[in-house]
Amino acid sequence: MVLNGQNMTEVKLKNRSVVLRLLFKYGPISRAQLSQVTGLTPPTITSLVGEMINEGIVIETGNTDDPAKGGVGRKRVLIDLKNDAKYEIGIEFGVETTHMGINDLKGNLVCDRILPIITPDPTERIRQTAREVVDMLSEREIPMERVLGIGVGVPGLVDRERGINRKSPNLGWKNVNVRNIFSEVLSMPVLLENNVRCMALGEQFFGFGREMDDIILFHVGMGIGCGIIIDGRLFHGSSEGAGEIGHTTIDINGPQCGCGKKGCLEALASGRAIADKGREFLGRDVSAYDVFLAAKAGDPIAAGILKEAGYYLGIGVANLINLFNPQMVVLHGGVLNSGDIVLKPLLETASSHVFSDRSEDADIKLSAYGDELGIMGASALVLKELFFKL
Ligand SMILES: [Zn+2]
Repeated sequence: MVLNGQNMTEVKLKNRSVVLRLLFKYGPISRAQLSQVTGLTPPTITSLVGEMINEGIVIETGNTDDPAKGGVGRKRVLIDLKNDAKYEIGIEFGVETTHMGINDLKGNLVCDRILPIITPDPTERIRQTAREVVDMLSEREIPMERVLGIGVGVPGLVDRERGINRKSPNLGWKNVNVRNIFSEVLSMPVLLENNVRCMALGEQFFGFGREMDDIILFHVGMGIGCGIIIDGRLFHGSSEGAGEIGHTTIDINGPQCGCGKKGCLEALASGRAIADKGREFLGRDVSAYDVFLAAKAGDPIAAGILKEAGYYLGIGVANLINLFNPQMVVLHGGVLNSGDIVLKPLLETASSHVFSDRSEDADIKLSAYGDELGIMGASALVLKELFFKL
């Protein structure tokens, strides 16, 4: 057998990672089931699980009847991750608020907080958030040494290696060293990622993506972006710029976009674009949510604005399907929670613009998660990098 240069330690780490991920996904399960699914020998599984039990991250949770014995007689011991052995902090810096939460080892959201923005200064904002992390942990009586790390989602371009937000026009940040500022207050690893990519990870770990390797999370809020997972991995592009579906040109003579170009998807169908159109046609200052409420109350102009947005979003989704052929596109964000008035034209347009002749290639679903997906995904980032070591 050729191991391609991997030494035994690497092989063992890989096996360990596989077992941890199976426990995360399917636990509680028996050692025998772990052996069957992984193809690792029973002694290897017993040894790996034994080490994890000694470390305190895995526990025996009970028994089940052995199906091989007709469900009676000999019992199998079930094992699982120990929920409270480790925790992850997930943070999302948004345009209007900072959302933060603590997840346990199985990814359950233990608690969360939404902080208003009290200063436009990024350094002060991050320091304030770090102090809230300390406060939240002490309130829950979680010792620092049980925290694996902090995952941080930010809009815009990130330097993941150095933990720097290179550019975020929406936040007004440029070259902000998020990791260093957190480290002034907290001594734990800090991982940075684009916020929509965090959401895609959240969907991969906790949502529809659990059994899929190729999925795209399509987020439509004030802006539009997507997180692309190919072969089970987040796709970043050569310089972290992948996924900017919001700035693909849909109408070269269309309205001005915040990026400086004309007719981007974001300028036609984002929350901001809907609010702009509402202002133009309804003759008063409105939010995208106001347009939704007016449409719900029967206003035909408001309904027309949302239908048109749904049509453009459908074009965007079809473009994604034609480019990547994912198993699923998961829809997420405030605009997509408007119900059928947006979703119906979106789905109709998407299916009529998909090139593939296989209808199952265009599986499009609404995420089961709301705003919490961002912090859950930031926590998933910590699990992925620091616990599963993927
Ligand atoms: Zn643009």
